[in-house]
Amino acid sequence: MERIIEVEKFSEESSFENSLRPRDWDEYIGQEKIKKNLKIFIEASKKRGEPLDHILFFGPPGLGKTTLSHIIASQMSTNIKITAAPMIEKSGDLAAILTNLEEGDILFIDEIHRLSPAIEEILYPAMEDFRLDIIIGSGPAAQTIKIDLPRFTLIGATTRAGMLSSPLRDRFGMHFRLQFYDPKELAHIVTNAAAKLGKEIDQKAALEIAKRSRGTPRIALRLLKRVRDFADVANEHMITLDRTKEALEALGVDEQGFDDLDLKLLRLLVEARGRPLGLSTIAAALSEDEGTIEDVIEPYLLANGYIERTARGRIATPKTYDLLKLKPTDTLF
Ligand code: ADP
Repeated sequence: MERIIEVEKFSEESSFENSLRPRDWDEYIGQEKIKKNLKIFIEASKKRGEPLDHILFFGPPGLGKTTLSHIIASQMSTNIKITAAPMIEKSGDLAAILTNLEEGDILFIDEIHRLSPAIEEILYPAMEDFRLDIIIGSGPAAQTIKIDLPRFTLIGATTRAGMLSSPLRDRFGMHFRLQFYDPKELAHIVTNAAAKLGKEIDQKAALEIAKRSRGTPRIALRLLKRVRDFADVANEHMITLDRTKEALEALGVDEQGFDDLDLKLLRLLVEARGRPLGLSTIAAALSEDEGTIEDVIEPYLLANGYIERTARGRIATPKTYDLLKLKPTDTLF
């Protein structure tokens, strides 16, 4: 099965997602603590007539960071401009984005840990004093021009909190870590999305999709989309449990929602028989880059107790042996 979590901005997939994106708090399911805090901060800043403090969201892809930012913008009745760090290559790119903002606007920078140090330097005075310092020329003739910026709110999203430089991290007034969703929450998201697609879905079917979605709304929605295809071909308005199971099996999604890469990683750890494996060893064995393993594959396995991370590397847990139907003394050969 292809990996179902890669970010596909501006594709057919992302327009499907956009059409299902919750527009207000009621539709945004779960993450209750974050919602509660944000509601208070939004109300306070509205009362004071000031823009919101800068916000940092971290967590694996597909958990709702972009969606939250859209809701914040709509609650603050402001515009949101969306970009991603790899798109900001030169200082001029960032200067152009910042000078085009209006008072109170939200600037969303995805993958913010990937900004280059030179760009970060420009961001610091912009975040602190709403000022842009541009250096023109070089050597003794160099001049700094200061440009005032409108007061804006920066929302940074990152899959890797650890990769963010501390000066940048410290300039965000609010930090929120998004959690994986439990199956009940995901089933709720799936049911709402099905209604938006003009379909009804049996509760058990919604829960079945939820259980196989690695705690991630983006995956749940993708699976729903494919299950819907099966129901459409069978001319069924109601998505049933049987049809859902049939579709998920045909797609090769296993009962825990693990795909080939997850299982390969778990097998590798079991094969190491208790010897901790480093990230680079795992990456080489799976022919994947380290970033994908750390950001996309590992977090869910760690959060659910299938891997343990020790100072010396990753090891399998008893749960992994159970899953692979092995005993800790068994080898795979
Ligand atoms: P991220 O920015 O963290 O990668 P997104 O915000 O793009 O994730 O979320 C992916 C999709 O999942 C969105 O299009 C949205 O429809 C759905 N989604 C995410 N979080 C929620 C939620 N809490 N409630 C309902 N739908 C959600």
